[in-house]
Amino acid sequence: MKNLFKKNKRIVVCLLISLGIGFMSCKDNMSSIEYNSLLTQKENLNSQIVEMDNQITQNKNEVNKLETKKSQLDKIAREAAAEAEKIAKIEAEKLAKIEAEEATRVSQENQVESQPYIVNNGGVWISQTGKKYHSNPNCSNMKTPTQVSLEDAQSLGLTPCKKCY
Ligand SMILES: [Zn+2]
Repeated sequence: MKNLFKKNKRIVVCLLISLGIGFMSCKDNMSSIEYNSLLTQKENLNSQIVEMDNQITQNKNEVNKLETKKSQLDKIAREAAAEAEKIAKIEAEKLAKIEAEEATRVSQENQVESQPYIVNNGGVWISQTGKKYHSNPNCSNMKTPTQVSLEDAQSLGLTPCKKCY
């Protein structure tokens, strides 16, 4: 028995070693398959990361472009608002000028209407200093025209104004 064992010891050891190597190599094989698959996954993830980075860069560029566009539009809007304000100011000034002119015209008209102007009642208009009598109290810028009868004017030695007679 002892001899048998001794005889076969080498064989047993060889068997054990070869089993061990087989097991180890099998394990190694499993590991390397797992490793390879992990490696592939890692590469996939890496390429996904690169893709995402590219996407992020593209998005950033897009954002920058949009921001530039926005600032351009803001500038245009500001300029348009300033232009509109300018136009509104000019329009308001024009309107104010027209209103002022209209007011002046109306007040001048009222002034003319408020002055006594009586025609064909037989009277004439004389000034305190003038040598003429007038049919129009507004003639010759008379300061305080007085209405008198034609006879009175003639008896005062006044002669008809060449402008209004
Ligand atoms: Zn006159």
